[in-house]
Amino acid sequence: MPINVLFSARPERWETYQEPLNKAFKGKGLDVNLATDIPPEQVDYIVYAPNGDMNDFTPYKNCKAVLSLWAGVEKIVVNQTLTQPLARMVDHGLTQGMIEWVTGHVLRHHLNTDLHVLGQDGEWRDYVPPLAQDRQVTILGLGALGTACGQALAGLGFPVTGWSRTAKEVEGITCLHSNDGLSQALNNSDIIVLLLPLTGNTENLINSERLAQMKDGVCLINPGRGPLIDDQALLKALDTGKVGHATLDVFRIEPLPTDHPYWAHPKVTVTPHIASETRPVTAAQVIAENIQRGEMGKPFLHLVDRTEGY
Ligand code: NDP
Repeated sequence: MPINVLFSARPERWETYQEPLNKAFKGKGLDVNLATDIPPEQVDYIVYAPNGDMNDFTPYKNCKAVLSLWAGVEKIVVNQTLTQPLARMVDHGLTQGMIEWVTGHVLRHHLNTDLHVLGQDGEWRDYVPPLAQDRQVTILGLGALGTACGQALAGLGFPVTGWSRTAKEVEGITCLHSNDGLSQALNNSDIIVLLLPLTGNTENLINSERLAQMKDGVCLINPGRGPLIDDQALLKALDTGKVGHATLDVFRIEPLPTDHPYWAHPKVTVTPHIASETRPVTAAQVIAENIQRGEMGKPFLHLVDRTEGY
């Protein structure tokens, strides 16, 4: 009997994922029937993205796991009909993409690249940036993505502090945790990168009180989730000069409405939720690995802790 795997995502993603998934299943020696339409009671696994049309998991009574194509699970974790184990996406391609996006934007601010890129006006601006070793970077969130980005930046010579919920030890990164560690993580940094999941505990984490603790002229980079930041508080901090620049990839409403003040603000860079994407070939390997584990009775990788929400 083949293993029935239901693919539930935006219809155009089927074209992108069908071949890599089938190849990955074959590579693992799994006999899989992968389809977008399978009678619910026959479904063994669901490959899932929240922008598909599945909202009710109740009929999938024999489903052994829901395997998310997304790293962020805030939309599905609150679904009361989901009783099956939920695994999120941790994918080499997604991680590498995030390293490149974060490093690029950190370097833009560190080197003040805009001065020359946007200033080709005949004026000889002999600004010399400090070395990376003199620019303190903080990463809020030391998970799969935050750790990889922090280590890449540390590799370039930046002193990197990371902050997480639980205590950690990561080579090359000064690790802080819990509420006590947060003030220290915020108050000594020139560039702060948000790579936290959106949960009840992280929503509006960057509010007026926390912004006030930051260094004057700090640069904020948010590829995490929009609601991590109180937008009104950030706009105020940008206007007073407390925050020197904000590079934002994620927003409360996406696409960001055309009349949102972020678009016109001279100290804000908007990117359209493109910091990193799940890459089909590498993600398919992760999905196949998890299905193989499920079939062998081994614990699933990257399981979401439903009580913590990530
Ligand atoms: P992980 O779950 O691996 O890591 C989350 C990190 O956040 C962990 O270190 C965790 O701490 C920490 N954390 C969670 N809650 C708290 C809290 N209350 N206080 C302090 N630290 C906390 O996630 P990933 O690294 O894989 O992804 C992070 C986020 O990046 C995703 O949730 C998603 O929102 C976003 N993302 C954005 C993309 C984009 O294109 N813009 C693409 C992919 C992801 P601990 O280690 O102690 O558990």
